[in-house]
Amino acid sequence: MSDYILVLDEGTTSTRAMLFDAAGAFHGSAQEELTQHYPQGGWVEHDAAEIWDKTLACARGVIEKAGGAERIACIGITNQRETVVAWDKATGEPLARAIVWQDRRTEPFCVGLRAEGHEADVQKRTGLLLDPYFSGTKMRWLMDNSAEVRAAADRGTLAFGTIESWLTFKLAAGRHISDASNGSRTLLLELDGAQFDAGLCELLGVPHSALPEVVDMSGALAETSPDIFGRAIPITGLVGDQQAATIGQACLSPGETKATYGTGAFVLTNQGTQIPRSQNRLLGTVLTQIGGQRTYAIEGSVFVAGSLVQWLRDSLGIVDVASQTEELARSISDTGGVTIVPALAGLGAPHWRAEARGLISGLSFASGKAELARAALEAMAHQTHDLASAFAKDGTGWGTLRIDGGMSANDWMAQDLADVLNITVERPEFVETTALGAAMLAAAGAGMHPDLNVAAQAMRGTLSSFTPAMSDYVREDRLARWKKALAAA
Ligand code: ADP
Repeated sequence: MSDYILVLDEGTTSTRAMLFDAAGAFHGSAQEELTQHYPQGGWVEHDAAEIWDKTLACARGVIEKAGGAERIACIGITNQRETVVAWDKATGEPLARAIVWQDRRTEPFCVGLRAEGHEADVQKRTGLLLDPYFSGTKMRWLMDNSAEVRAAADRGTLAFGTIESWLTFKLAAGRHISDASNGSRTLLLELDGAQFDAGLCELLGVPHSALPEVVDMSGALAETSPDIFGRAIPITGLVGDQQAATIGQACLSPGETKATYGTGAFVLTNQGTQIPRSQNRLLGTVLTQIGGQRTYAIEGSVFVAGSLVQWLRDSLGIVDVASQTEELARSISDTGGVTIVPALAGLGAPHWRAEARGLISGLSFASGKAELARAALEAMAHQTHDLASAFAKDGTGWGTLRIDGGMSANDWMAQDLADVLNITVERPEFVETTALGAAMLAAAGAGMHPDLNVAAQAMRGTLSSFTPAMSDYVREDRLARWKKALAAA
């Protein structure tokens, strides 16, 4: 009997294969670390062949543990978005190192495009800003700088794709596809365009013929070659990681919002079928495409979240482990006026001030480890509050906030988010929402559930709730202190 859903979760630092069943229960995983290549400042690369080899090894490992390929009903793939692979369609081999989403090398190209006045039009069409983050500019860089990529383009055998596209090509005998959520992070797909746009390709200098076909995120998308796992297994879910977490948190109705607190924080609000048009420098992105029908999300990201706690641990030595911030925060009733603005890597949404730098204000001789740890956690609610205001100005106010990511394990922070945002905060017991979201799409796509809504209800686990308990006076005081510190940063 085929009862398992195999999820391939392609992160930035590791690749994992995970098993779920149709009720959302988790049945084990295999994981391998990925080598990070930093050839120069601001550059981050991966070896696409290593990603494929390790993914295959992890997948084979869990399939064996599951009792063989007959037990696997379907495969869902979720991935680090915006990372670009260039390969040769004829040989199936990578032509250059993959350029990772964090890589900033295309900044001069983006500055040029902005100077030529393209940003407003590009934002309107794609929902994105002209930033090196997005994959189209990375494809252009490979065209300009890799002789191998250029030669393959001339031969007509060049293939570009993000990680889900690369893996599907390898798994499914050369099927070259990309799902709409990953496609919508390239700068080459219009929010309401079915396929990559020829005009945007021309603007960015990316050959249209090298791009994959844009497909649904759930359904009979591809099938593995029988020789890979011993049996053809349908690939029925493809999704970028943040969209996957949004689906995994069952944010399937307009206004429903998830926030992932990892190294940074990513917030997505379901926008329904309405195309997002942010006036506040938030991003518009495809949330789902099923049966050719799209729903959208507004997205805002904060650069520094858990990394601030890491800095307290590694650079200041205030805590030995991240979770100690919780007991320190609880040991005092307030920070005594200490406020941290975590602009250690500039400020992301909604401020977008790359040149801003971090700040600790309100220090006195009474300030110690506890005050700093608590101020660091308070900064998460402050930053999220700024995002909430920007989302509300765009007409997308939050009803409740569903949180996940490594840092969401901190109960004090979860309660503080509820208090400062003045809304209920929910946290699932099973925090691997990215993998779960991919499993939901794959299960619905394989017909294990009639549709994604039913899959999400059936597979979503139990939740903890945090309800606001802060007085308006304290909240206003906190936010006034934050605003003052932010202005100084
Ligand atoms: P990523 O996926 O970005 O690698 P994770 O979701 O694994 O990140 O979250 C890890 C981050 O969360 C680290 O930066 C760590 O400092 C922070 N973190 C983990 N647990 C806690 C905790 N209990 N309290 C505060 N921060 C935490």
